[in-house]
Amino acid sequence: MKRPVLTIVVPCCNEEEVLARTFRELRGVLGHLIREQLVAAASKLLFVDDGSKDRTWSMIIAEHSAHPEITGLKLARNVGHQKALLAGLEAAAARSDCVISIDADLQDDIGVIRDFVLKFHEGFDIVYGVRASRKTDTWFKRTSALCFYRIMSRLGIQLIPNHADFRLMSKRAVAELCRYGETNLFLRGIVPLIGYTATNVYYDRKERFAGQSKYSLRKMLSFAFDGIASFSVAPIRFVTSLGFILLAVSIGAGAYALTQKWLGQTKTGWTSLMISIWFLGGLQLLGIGIIGEYIGKIFIEVKCRPKYAVEIDLYSSVSEPVIRATASESSL
Ligand code: UDP
Ligand code: MG
Repeated sequence: MKRPVLTIVVPCCNEEEVLARTFRELRGVLGHLIREQLVAAASKLLFVDDGSKDRTWSMIIAEHSAHPEITGLKLARNVGHQKALLAGLEAAAARSDCVISIDADLQDDIGVIRDFVLKFHEGFDIVYGVRASRKTDTWFKRTSALCFYRIMSRLGIQLIPNHADFRLMSKRAVAELCRYGETNLFLRGIVPLIGYTATNVYYDRKERFAGQSKYSLRKMLSFAFDGIASFSVAPIRFVTSLGFILLAVSIGAGAYALTQKWLGQTKTGWTSLMISIWFLGGLQLLGIGIIGEYIGKIFIEVKCRPKYAVEIDLYSSVSEPVIRATASESSL
């Protein structure tokens, strides 16, 4: 069988603290794979700079000049992990037979990349890296992740538990992924929908060796909600059924109140009145809020805005950034 061209895609947002080591370790892994003849010599590492404000892009350019197997894609601004990853996957799949995505902090075990490639040779289109243990995650991250996966499976959304965005995809699987036109991207929910043959490879997740998590609590919650709302209308249904139940209850309660009145047993019902006003008001707001979220998503989706803009692509124009740099220097 012809050796496949592999591209390892690494989204980076302000990762200057981790990059030097990430370059070194991933180059090591790729070198091994090439020497073992598991992948073609033209295989590459693609670093996607997602609008970093630090030295990330200059480090990528420097590494690219020193090592031909390193290449980069600079997005015009920060678009977030998922979109940056998609930009990388699209660019990589155009020039490779298979792509692997991994975070820049190497929390995912690069030791299993070889297993991914072996599975690809066996004929799998998608190989999911699954965390066998989350010992190194904080208690909060572990528990919130567990709740999230529980809710998702309750809602009937097919997810691979404990799989993040560390996976191998064949060229045709990425091509299918790119046909999903949605803007609210939740890649780990979309990939299982593609339906090509898939398998899991298990590993232990490590701690981030430097730098800080780029997912704040707010980003994490909004990512989780994106996941739920872009795959399921269950929350809307839940509000509707709650509405029906409340209607039934209020008819019963109304009948009770009227009988009490006719029997002359009414008391000044200030407390119950206040409670119900607040309770119903709250429920209504909740309902409107959830529906509003969906309308907001529709609003964003119908615009069909491009998900990212590539500013510089080292992949296709090797000399361009160098020319740009010299041009701006000479004009000083
Ligand atoms: N990332 C990105 N754009 C962002 C936020 C994060 O490209 O707006 C990248 C980041 O550089 C890293 C990956 O996404 O390679 C995962 O981020 P992080 O490790 O901070 O997330 P965590 O592991 O804490 O969930
Ligand atoms: Mg991380």
